Amino acid sequence: MKILDWRNHNQRINITNSFISSKVLRDISCSGAEYFYADDLSWLPNDFDKILFRKNFLKLYKGIKCFHACSPVNIDNYLINGFTGGNHEKAIAIFNKIFSDIPDEYRKKAIVEISRSREDEALKTFFLCDSKCLINKDGHYLIYGSEYLIVLAANLSAQKISTEYFRQRLKGIGIPTIIEADIDFSLLDNKQIDYLIDYSLSDWANYNIFNSQFTPSEMSIIAKQKLPSSVIINHWHPEKIHDPFNWGKWYSPDKTTCSSC
Ligand SMILES: [Zn+2]
Repeated sequence: MKILDWRNHNQRINITNSFISSKVLRDISCSGAEYFYADDLSWLPNDFDKILFRKNFLKLYKGIKCFHACSPVNIDNYLINGFTGGNHEKAIAIFNKIFSDIPDEYRKKAIVEISRSREDEALKTFFLCDSKCLINKDGHYLIYGSEYLIVLAANLSAQKISTEYFRQRLKGIGIPTIIEADIDFSLLDNKQIDYLIDYSLSDWANYNIFNSQFTPSEMSIIAKQKLPSSVIINHWHPEKIHDPFNWGKWYSPDKTTCSSC
């Protein structure tokens, strides 16, 4: 069985072609659709057997290649413990340390507001199936670290305590790191696998019908349970990162190696 590499869209779409009869392709090419959406598969012919497609897909692929962006002070935590999800208590302790000069009342307000809106994130880890976006577009996870810390700092700015742009304090604390992981489907929930299958079908249709204008979907994966360190197959530290919080300027980290490189 294979690991699905979403980046290799020619290969994955050719494999999808082998699962689907040419009649389905003929039917959808006559439909006049301008785009084939993943969140509404009503463009598929009524007799399309999605259960069989799912079965064939899971017979061929045992998991998917994913990339996680982070900025750890010490990557050993990941390499030893794997992905343990959002540790909010730890993030709050770091937040209180970095912003110890800000009066308690403002920090407490930020913590109460953010904790309430992000309760369901404990244990979740976010991945993209292509590391390029994490470096060239959504570079903030690499530069500023966890989303939870980022939103806590943004909340302080919103309280208008001063003109300081508080998120900037998170820069340069850890080492920007991309972690590559091959995640077995048994570690993901069924809803996530269905989402992946829906996007595989829409990419397959868009590629075949609108070949020259085809842009692969940006695929995200959310693991909702702890993932063992055995899923990690590589890590590296980008040298230039797009900073969406600094007018899209490119950021060059001070450190591009770690003790585990
Ligand atoms: Zn390293």
